[in-house]
Amino acid sequence: MEELSHWIDGKRVAGTSGRFADVYNPATGDVQARVPLASKAELDDAVARAAQAQIAWGATNPQKRARVMMAAVALINRDMDKLAEKLSSEHGKTFVDAKGDIQRGLEVIEYCIGAPQLLKGEFTDSAGPGIDMYSMRQPLGVVAGITPFNFPAMIPLWKMGPALACGNAMILKPSERDPSVPLMLAEIFKEAGLPDGVLQVVNGDKDAVDAILDNETVQAVGFVGSTPIAQYIYARGCANGKRVQCFGGAKNHMIIMPDADMDQAADALIGAGYGAAGERCMAISVAVPVGEGTSDALRERLVPKIEALKVGPWTAGDDVDYGPVVTAAAKENILRLVQTGVDQGAELVVDGRDFKLQGYENGFFVGPHLFDHVTTDMDIYRQEIFGPVLSMVRAKTYDEAIGMAMDHEYGNGTAIFTRDGDTARDFAHRINIGMVGINVPIPVPLAYHTFGGWKKSGFGDLNQHGPDAFKFYTRTKTVTSRWPSGIKEGAAFNFKAMD
Ligand code: NAD
Repeated sequence: MEELSHWIDGKRVAGTSGRFADVYNPATGDVQARVPLASKAELDDAVARAAQAQIAWGATNPQKRARVMMAAVALINRDMDKLAEKLSSEHGKTFVDAKGDIQRGLEVIEYCIGAPQLLKGEFTDSAGPGIDMYSMRQPLGVVAGITPFNFPAMIPLWKMGPALACGNAMILKPSERDPSVPLMLAEIFKEAGLPDGVLQVVNGDKDAVDAILDNETVQAVGFVGSTPIAQYIYARGCANGKRVQCFGGAKNHMIIMPDADMDQAADALIGAGYGAAGERCMAISVAVPVGEGTSDALRERLVPKIEALKVGPWTAGDDVDYGPVVTAAAKENILRLVQTGVDQGAELVVDGRDFKLQGYENGFFVGPHLFDHVTTDMDIYRQEIFGPVLSMVRAKTYDEAIGMAMDHEYGNGTAIFTRDGDTARDFAHRINIGMVGINVPIPVPLAYHTFGGWKKSGFGDLNQHGPDAFKFYTRTKTVTSRWPSGIKEGAAFNFKAMD
């Protein structure tokens, strides 16, 4: 069995805490590796070393830092297949989807090549007599990224790209369920020219996270994961005076209007509801058709498509639509929630509970489920299931449908399918959700825009990637300067307008 490590000062370093977590192959249920779980002492040591390394990195000119990003892009492309294989083997998602995971992270590194432009300050010439005023963006120092299991390449890259391009050192604490790809990415960044110590990958669980939150040198924390942990990290990090942004769970609604192209809407729901076994924070988990006719037409199209879904291991290649979920515990939780749906009176139209795959009986596979006649008081509507389970909630009117999405506590993503421009515009304008698709089921913004949810899907006031990330990972300093030849007056005791 492979024994994984941390990545400290540019090399793999064994854990010393004596604690480990098992890393599974979700397709077979076998333990394929174990990952060390860092103690507070190990975390504090990694931070102290990062703080030393950050001094020179922060003083390196932004163009040189951008060149490291450029080299990393080429190397990630070179190693794409190797990374995707490892990613699929630990996460369970299909090979093509694993490449997509890496690709969407890579695009943020490409964006970071523009760091010199993005980090430019502002300058006002002659703000007063002989007075110039300018602002600069400076790195924060040591920052931390804490990431979830479901995008083990994309989200670490969203964290490390902007943080490093801005001149910070980063402590990356990846998910303990699929930690290998972040370690491989750290190796790639070293090969790309990143100095040792500037990126430390510290594996761990709550102990390591708490040590990050309590370490005084860590200036900022970027978290992505479930909402209860997001709230905990936000509260504790802020209480300790850090800059914190936390992105949490989701329950994304897709509204289908009577005028929508029903075939297109059904295809969109299949991809967005069941892709990656529903383990995406932007997955559609609630379909809200408006009107009984729309609901029936949609259901009629959905059922055969869901029944035809191919579930299997990533090694089966293009024949597979989605793979296993990440752990046995995740599978158990999904099936528990499905049972609540049945018990609370929803109609289980497609029942995936008894799904078994020959040769992979111990794998964490979950068959696809479709519920109809779901109501807003049911657990399957209120809670994030994070599995291949789609709930249909029939609405009578557009207002009822949009009201439902607006009343839900999560506000990550949403979509509307319609041919009517007025309705689409009203929806985009009125909805209290961070990312909106119009005839686009998974509206993940591209690298040069920003990604973030509202309500209980996001805590903090800046989004991930795009220009917001460059604000999050820097602080602004504003300088007012006047040289001796410009000083015409003696001591001044009062504030007054500039002449
Ligand atoms: P998780 O909250 O269990 O874990 C996320 C991170 O927090 C991991 O690094 C984990 O080690 C750490 N952690 C777990 N328990 C902790 C504790 N008690 N104290 C401190 N740290 C702890 O999330 P997950 O299961 O890895 O990921 C799935 C969740 O992430 C879903 O809810 C999904 O919606 C969400 N997610 C959100 C976004 C977004 O951008 N909003 C993106 C991807 C995933």
